[in-house]
Amino acid sequence: MSTGVNTGGQGDGVDRVDTLDLVTTRAWIHAVALAVSAHRDELTELDAAIGDADHGVNLQRGFAAVEAATGGAGHAGAGHAPETVGQLLGKVGMTLISSVGGASGPLYGTAFRAIGRALTTPEADGEQFALALHAGLDAVRALGAAAVGDKTMVDALTPAVAAFDAAVTAGGDLRAAARAAADAAEDGARATTPLQARKGRASYLGERSIGHQDPGATSTALIFTALAETFERRG
Ligand SMILES: [Mg+2]
Repeated sequence: MSTGVNTGGQGDGVDRVDTLDLVTTRAWIHAVALAVSAHRDELTELDAAIGDADHGVNLQRGFAAVEAATGGAGHAGAGHAPETVGQLLGKVGMTLISSVGGASGPLYGTAFRAIGRALTTPEADGEQFALALHAGLDAVRALGAAAVGDKTMVDALTPAVAAFDAAVTAGGDLRAAARAAADAAEDGARATTPLQARKGRASYLGERSIGHQDPGATSTALIFTALAETFERRG
């Protein structure tokens, strides 16, 4: 693939972004940590409506632990010196699994670990990252046994991965693919509101889960929006 040359896909004279490198990946993870903190109370309120009101606090704790473990935001990083984007994202996943309670830690942790395992070269291009996102989605589906329409994070993750893949296949760069994924994730999260939950704690509420946006789908949208904004800041 071309690098640093505007060969189309943007249409506005902006250079293509064709590689996800370690610096950008660290910036993404830091942006996720900031977004989770900024939206902690919103996530908690969504989880209070149909769950146990811990999603915001859990994710904030998890990504704070991730920052400490990977050296983000001025942390020492506990000697973690990844040589590939995949190693860094694998560390993110391991840290989430070990630091976040409830279902969201294992689910997000498993997703990041699967994405990391799929990325074995120092940097990733769009096709590699699309494949890795598919691996993450497959891992979440296998662990949570949830399908689209069950009112879970899968409702945001599935269209996000599809949109990312479609954008790359159409020749879009990583910035365009990440924006398409973020928009699809936000649409998917909003679309959970009228659904009745069929998986997770919210399913215990039956019809009373209708009318509330799913907190896991909402945090999934935050993660993809952080990715899009990270590429957009990179310019
Ligand atoms: Mg909860």
